[in-house]
Amino acid sequence: MKVGVLALQGAVSEHVEVLNKTMKKIKINGNAVYVRNAKDLDDISGLVIPGGESTTINRLMLTTGMHEKIIELAKKGLPILGTCAGTILLAKEGDEQVKQTNTKLLGLMDMKVLRNAYGRQVDSFETDVNIPEIGSKPFRAFFIRAPTIEKVWDDTKIWVKYQDNIIGVKKGNILALTFHPELSDDLRIHEYFLRTIQRNYRIR
Ligand code: GLN
Repeated sequence: MKVGVLALQGAVSEHVEVLNKTMKKIKINGNAVYVRNAKDLDDISGLVIPGGESTTINRLMLTTGMHEKIIELAKKGLPILGTCAGTILLAKEGDEQVKQTNTKLLGLMDMKVLRNAYGRQVDSFETDVNIPEIGSKPFRAFFIRAPTIEKVWDDTKIWVKYQDNIIGVKKGNILALTFHPELSDDLRIHEYFLRTIQRNYRIR
């Protein structure tokens, strides 16, 4: 199994490391690879769109021709994990900041996102969150100038909430989180994503 991490900007190597560690732990024969251009997308079974700066990642996605190709692959069922900036890019709708920066969203998930939604005072923080689908033990979530998800509709469903904020959503094989799961020692979210890839593998 080859799992790609979009390697244009942001928290790339962290995901590569955690994916490799998780595959080893749950005995999946495979490895994580850096996806730097459109051709690298050809032979992966899953893709992580990491956190970073959504405007920068977006610009590079467009110039490398990856924007269109990711949409195509997602529509064919490619499992995707988006975190933070990656989640912003997966949305159908953004806020004023997204519009002002001319960010061209992938539009793969029925949701509206708000960039830098926690304001200056608490723009970065960590906290325990409950994610029933990965077990009863709380998950330590790291928020770094994180967005929030204002609303979801149609096939996009809420996966995890923290207080009144939607911080994780799911649509088919795509999981989008506003926090950084790769910064926690807990491998359960990456394991959940790898299981999605495994299941998708069998169907194809
Ligand atoms: N603030 C960033 C953005 O709006 C996202 C931050 C992150 O990915 N950690 O793109």
